[in-house]
Amino acid sequence: MMSLLLKGAYIITGDEKGTVIDDGYIGIRESIIDYIGIGYEGICDRYERVWNLKNKVVMPGFVNAHNHSAMTVFRNYADDLKLMDWLFNTIFPLEDKITAKDAYWATQLAIMEMIKTGTTAFCDMYMYMEETAIAVSEVGIKAALGRGLQGDIDTKDDFRLKESINLYRNFHGSNKGRIRVNLAPHSVYTCTMTYLEMVAKLAWDLNCEVQIHLSETDDEVRKSVAQHKMTPTKAADKAGLLNSKTIAAHCVAVNDNDLEILVNKKVNVVHNPSSNMKLGSGIAPIKRMIDKRINVALGTDGASSNNGLDMLTEMRNASYLQKVVLKDPTAINVDQVIAMATSNGAKALGFKNTGKIVTGYSADIIVIDIEKPWYYPRHNIKSSIVYSGCSKDVETVLIDGEIIMEKGQMLTIDEEKVLYEIQRAADDLFL
Ligand SMILES: [Zn+2]
Repeated sequence: MMSLLLKGAYIITGDEKGTVIDDGYIGIRESIIDYIGIGYEGICDRYERVWNLKNKVVMPGFVNAHNHSAMTVFRNYADDLKLMDWLFNTIFPLEDKITAKDAYWATQLAIMEMIKTGTTAFCDMYMYMEETAIAVSEVGIKAALGRGLQGDIDTKDDFRLKESINLYRNFHGSNKGRIRVNLAPHSVYTCTMTYLEMVAKLAWDLNCEVQIHLSETDDEVRKSVAQHKMTPTKAADKAGLLNSKTIAAHCVAVNDNDLEILVNKKVNVVHNPSSNMKLGSGIAPIKRMIDKRINVALGTDGASSNNGLDMLTEMRNASYLQKVVLKDPTAINVDQVIAMATSNGAKALGFKNTGKIVTGYSADIIVIDIEKPWYYPRHNIKSSIVYSGCSKDVETVLIDGEIIMEKGQMLTIDEEKVLYEIQRAADDLFL
């Protein structure tokens, strides 16, 4: 296996102290970071390959903790609609027409976009998840995958649940642990209580994560109260779905009691600021959650409600939204948003020792070219990335030490073919 030394870069470690190392060195052996610090005599001889990364920033790859990859096929198709109108009248009927092959190419497109913008792991909830898992394996990105579940059906004959179990058996831990499989009930308002309880029990038996849309909008809360006589958070808790392995997307419309439940059950929250803004859903109380020590991660949501998969945009939007809503520029700082976009996401998804550049961690690393006007002058490298950076400046991506993109060249994706196939799929779908 390869050993590689990255030398001379500005390193944003993403560790607890927010350490940045100028002219830093990172040693990678097999899939693991085995050295981080400044150079010393003879260090270059210890590694087979040495990359000189002067004028580059090296940081942990982003973790997109909430996505529906195959929805890239709907990108820019139905915009400026209300969430429920968009979902029930536009998206759900179209989803009936998607084929497994469409989902495969749409996922390839999503992964290509994610790699090119510095994402090294993502969480996905959708259908045709076997095709998603195959695309994920072929490219070599990390992913936590769950077959979207909707249950008005109260029996174990539900085909979606069967697909979930098969996905778990076939793919959990596969591709050297880069794929994890979870259970993914869509939301409390698309499932009966019996169904939710069944999913909770299965998650317990499999000891796997559960991802769910939780309290995305006021409307969802009203639906949950009408259906379950409880807020979505309370309903999910009653079903036994909330614990430290729960990945709760959105949590915008949460009251004080809901927040206490999320704290006590150590639920991981995924903030999706761009999607929440575009769908007019509101602003999740992220600062309050962080103050209460909830693990808050970041996600893009599907490409049709965003309309991109760019984590740098999410970092900036997450920061700005809290400053706006609280009328307080100190509400959230760069270290907090960097953690949200990296290690907090890895923790939520169940990837151990991932999301920081420290020894013993997975070598999931991105290299950003900062020899561009918007990175000058260099006062504070973390601010440069979060407030003036551009994700298109990501030029190289390593996952478990494997080179997935080098100087802008995707090594595991045939870019031209993906673009051709996705346009063909969209043309067929929207005939
Ligand atoms: Zn979503």
